[in-house]
Amino acid sequence: MNQKKPPFTGHEKIRFNVPPFTGKEFAYMKEAVENQKICGDGEFTGRVSRWFEERTGTAKCLLTTSCTHATELAALLCDIRPGDEVIMPSFTFVSTANAFVLRGAVPVFVDVRPDTMNIDETLIEGAVTERTRAIVPVHYAGVSCEMDTILDVAARHGLYVIEDAAQGVMASYKGRALGTMGDFGCYSFHETKNYSMGEGGALLIREPKDVEMAEIYREKGTDRSKYFRGQVDKYRWQEYGSSYLPSDLNAAYLWAQLEQAEEINRQRLARWQEYYEMLTPLARQNRIELPSVPEGCVHNAHMFYLKTADEKECAALRAYLKEHDILAVSHYVPLHSAPAGKKYGRFFGEDRYTTKDSERLLRLPMYYGLTREDAAFVAEKVKAFYGA
Ligand SMILES: *Cc1c(COP(=O)(O)O)cnc(C)c1O
Repeated sequence: MNQKKPPFTGHEKIRFNVPPFTGKEFAYMKEAVENQKICGDGEFTGRVSRWFEERTGTAKCLLTTSCTHATELAALLCDIRPGDEVIMPSFTFVSTANAFVLRGAVPVFVDVRPDTMNIDETLIEGAVTERTRAIVPVHYAGVSCEMDTILDVAARHGLYVIEDAAQGVMASYKGRALGTMGDFGCYSFHETKNYSMGEGGALLIREPKDVEMAEIYREKGTDRSKYFRGQVDKYRWQEYGSSYLPSDLNAAYLWAQLEQAEEINRQRLARWQEYYEMLTPLARQNRIELPSVPEGCVHNAHMFYLKTADEKECAALRAYLKEHDILAVSHYVPLHSAPAGKKYGRFFGEDRYTTKDSERLLRLPMYYGLTREDAAFVAEKVKAFYGA
């Protein structure tokens, strides 16, 4: 569909994102309908879960209605309570914090490192108090946080680690898949992510002992998952819970992309690399900064961003690109500066990079189906803006 657009003319609008579509989605959705199983935990949900379990080595992958809901499930599983503190970056999506605020916890925001925009792992231990219960690293742009340090701090202080790996599907840290290193990992399959089902997500569970409660919270507080497997004769209300399982129709849409996962990843990485190479001369002249991928991290080209000198220049570049029909967009307004962040959370220590760098960060178009010519056109216009 969108991927099969006519040859580039130079006058076409280049969108920021186009939801992934490989061609088999409708056939699989039709199959789900013909299976007469369009509710949750049908054939395609099973296929998707097993695919992630086999690929990542996690004990269990439970498909959810969103990454937001996967994170809420993780907060329930960690038994987060009012007054507990949860350490996370402020430069993230609202859901990272909301999941814990809904349990009455206080998000404690720690500054990011400017090279990756991930939480600065060296500042985490200073933010730990006797009320701290968990650390939530967010793998920005599919580039891993420094997990060895984070897991070590967590182990020494008895804290849970919940990875917000919404952007991290198919990316890894020292050979381990993002989302599998913490007690829990959360993926997103929103239409803006590398692999999509419209709205959807997954909870990755590292320890087999946590699977039973996760299934109960996800199935309205019942042991219906066991009932479907024939392990109990009736399902009963066991605990509080909610409905976090997506329709099999959505899982069928996602399955079509997982079959093409390598190809999607390869193409995104190629575009990322082209942007990087074409913009390196500007970076060498210190006009812009480019993202960095630390040693040991394999990223997934979830996004390509650059940093301008300041907020004003960023807005001017964005407007200039828009004039040329290119949609480039900024990213998060830091949570600690937003109304709810002020009400529910607090920033630990000094905000050296979170605000300043978020204001000068601009994301360029990146999606499956973006052509080499499109990327070259975008890079040309960025260069033209700088008179290069
Ligand atoms: C996309 C995203 C989310 C939310 O994902 P949904 O599936 O839309 O709930 C959470 N955290 C981060 C870092 C994200 O990028």
